Amino acid sequence: MKKQLMSAAITLLITSVCTTAGATTGQAATWSYAAPTGPEQWSELKSDYALCSSGLTQSPIDIRDAVDTRLAPLVFTYQPSAAVVSNNGNTIQVATVDAGSLTLASGDYSFVQLHLHTPSEEQIQGRSYPMSAHLVHRSAAGELAVVAVLFEEGAHNPALDLILEAMPKEAGVVMNLQTLNVTDLLPATRHYYAYAGSLTTPPCAEGVRWHVLSTAVTLSPAQLQAFQALYPMNARPVQPLNGRSVEVGG
Ligand SMILES: [Zn+2]
Repeated sequence: MKKQLMSAAITLLITSVCTTAGATTGQAATWSYAAPTGPEQWSELKSDYALCSSGLTQSPIDIRDAVDTRLAPLVFTYQPSAAVVSNNGNTIQVATVDAGSLTLASGDYSFVQLHLHTPSEEQIQGRSYPMSAHLVHRSAAGELAVVAVLFEEGAHNPALDLILEAMPKEAGVVMNLQTLNVTDLLPATRHYYAYAGSLTTPPCAEGVRWHVLSTAVTLSPAQLQAFQALYPMNARPVQPLNGRSVEVGG
């Protein structure tokens, strides 16, 4: 029954994908992942990007020596929602307005958008994964909490396919998705690493609560190639820990 429902939902999604002719984000990418506008130069491109080099709690990081402090499990209360898939010149992003929330000890954070990186920006014991999704949430007070989902090569991932099928090939173009259920992108086991970090793109703002799920989900080699055909490499290098600790929870 559950399987039938899921395939019905997928069919609905695929048939509901449509282009929004002529729609653009109106923003040219002013930074990139390669010189002369790559991560080493971000802080020089705009004064607003200074933290990209001067910040002391930057992301991503290489996760090692995590401390088990028995953090509470992450509470996801996602719900199906309409979404907009955009190619913003640096990644594919899926934005929604009412896809539910993430609850932490510090409060509720509404899901705002997710986007993809290849390879994964975060490393675990020095290992990167072929891809990661960053699920970005914002509290009523404007604070950000991100959940990173790691992908390893393996079985085809139907939930990811909804995004890959809809992703515009050209920067500045957006597509509509009738339904996205973010839960479908999460692994069944949701143990996580938590640390205090930043946006991994300019302006590299700090004060971001990071949660990296330690169980990877899969994507097929063809799915990885489909994304890499648009963005072969869109990952910021790992940043110094500067004394931060990484905790384990879930
Ligand atoms: Zn990201």
